[in-house]
Amino acid sequence: MDSKNQESMFDKLFNSGKTLFEDISKKVRQSDFFKQGTCYICGKPLIGIYYKDLYGRKICTSHQRRTCISCGGFCNDSAMEISPGKYLCTHCQHYRTSLADAKHIIKLIRKHYLSIGLGEISRFHLEMVGLEDLQRLMQTSGDILGCAKMTGRRFDIEVLRHLSHTAMAGVLAHEILHIWQYQRGIFPPQDVCEGFCNLGSYELYKTIASPHAKAKIEGLDKDPNPIYGEGYRKIKRYYDKEGWSGVIRKMEGYVQ
Ligand SMILES: [Zn+2]
Ligand SMILES: [Zn+2]
Ligand SMILES: [Zn+2]
Repeated sequence: MDSKNQESMFDKLFNSGKTLFEDISKKVRQSDFFKQGTCYICGKPLIGIYYKDLYGRKICTSHQRRTCISCGGFCNDSAMEISPGKYLCTHCQHYRTSLADAKHIIKLIRKHYLSIGLGEISRFHLEMVGLEDLQRLMQTSGDILGCAKMTGRRFDIEVLRHLSHTAMAGVLAHEILHIWQYQRGIFPPQDVCEGFCNLGSYELYKTIASPHAKAKIEGLDKDPNPIYGEGYRKIKRYYDKEGWSGVIRKMEGYVQ
């Protein structure tokens, strides 16, 4: 199957779950917070220099810049502190993903991965957890949005329970590709492993195409991390030349 057909099939799949992804994009534009020339936090007119986020939200330079863990946009005073120093903006609070929605997203992603030649990816459990649980699991204090693990023959995906639909879809697309690698005994170097998983997120963001999804792609393109960022760009170059079939062949070379 050529890449054009793959794309239209993906579009069709995601159109069937479209309401899930009518995420930040529309509401953001209609929101009062986006009145031209006023500050997102205090509502006062902006004069001279100001800070601007990925979505064009502007704030006075006198405010503390707090960004949302789910969308990366600025937070105002209605943001929720989900863990010390970590915030969820009002829009992402509104579009939080339920467990049922997350399961529906998984179904769509699995169907898509089957259609591009990855085969069935099943037999894993999903759990929605708090940020502190994820940090403990990964032994870091950073912004961990999800993780996949293998314990003997058991496979688990844990995701942050505070994610909006776009962020959740991106994290699930990534983690499911870890499960694919585990279940097939594929253990490549870390940059290839994470880069491959990020390619799954990239393709999904490209299909969703909301401002949030575009910001996520920009984040991948600019990520300075040698494993997640460099690894993604390495696999993406490969994908641009060879498509999914080439990428899958490459990954299957790491079977152990
Ligand atoms: Zn202000
Ligand atoms: Zn947000
Ligand atoms: Zn990963």
